[in-house]
Amino acid sequence: MAILDILHHPDPRLREVAQPITEFDDELQTFIDDMFETMYAAPGVGLAATQVGDTRRVAVMDCSEDKNQPMVIINPEILQADEPQIMEEGCLSVPGISDKVTRNNHVKLRALDRDGNSYELQAEGLLAQCIQHEIDHLDGKLYIDKLSTLKRDRIRKKLQKEQRLATR
Ligand code: ZN
Repeated sequence: MAILDILHHPDPRLREVAQPITEFDDELQTFIDDMFETMYAAPGVGLAATQVGDTRRVAVMDCSEDKNQPMVIINPEILQADEPQIMEEGCLSVPGISDKVTRNNHVKLRALDRDGNSYELQAEGLLAQCIQHEIDHLDGKLYIDKLSTLKRDRIRKKLQKEQRLATR
C-alpha cells in the first residue's frame, strides 16, 4: 500500500470530471487500498479519486466513530435527496478551513462496490453529507463553490500563500 499525494485547491486537476469505471481489475483494487490508506492517514472521512489526480469515478469513505466501516462508491448516483439543512464542512483539499454549507440530511444512493456489484443505500447525517461531498469532487466541484465570492477569494489567497511558503 502507499500514501498518495492529496491535491490542494486551487489545483486545476480538482476541476476535472471523473469518468465511469468499467474495469474492476487488480490495479483498481490496489488503487482503492491506497486511497483508504491515504484517507485514514490524513485523517479524513472521505476521499475521491479526483483529489489524488486520478479521473476514475470512485471515492472511499468511513464516517464511523471507530473507523471500522470502510465504504467504496463507484459510479455513484443520488436517486433521492431531501431534508436540506446547514452543516459544517471541511475538505482535505482545502486544508485548515471549514465553513457552513447547505446539504441534504437524507440521500438515497445507488453505486457499485469495489467488485462491480450494484447496491442501494439510505444515508443520513454525516454519511449523507459525505456522499454528497465526494460526488461533488467526482464532478469537479468543491464545497467552497457554495460560499460567497469574498470568502472563496480569501480562502484561495490563504492557500496560495501557504503553498508558496511550503515550496521555499
Ligand atoms: Zn473534499
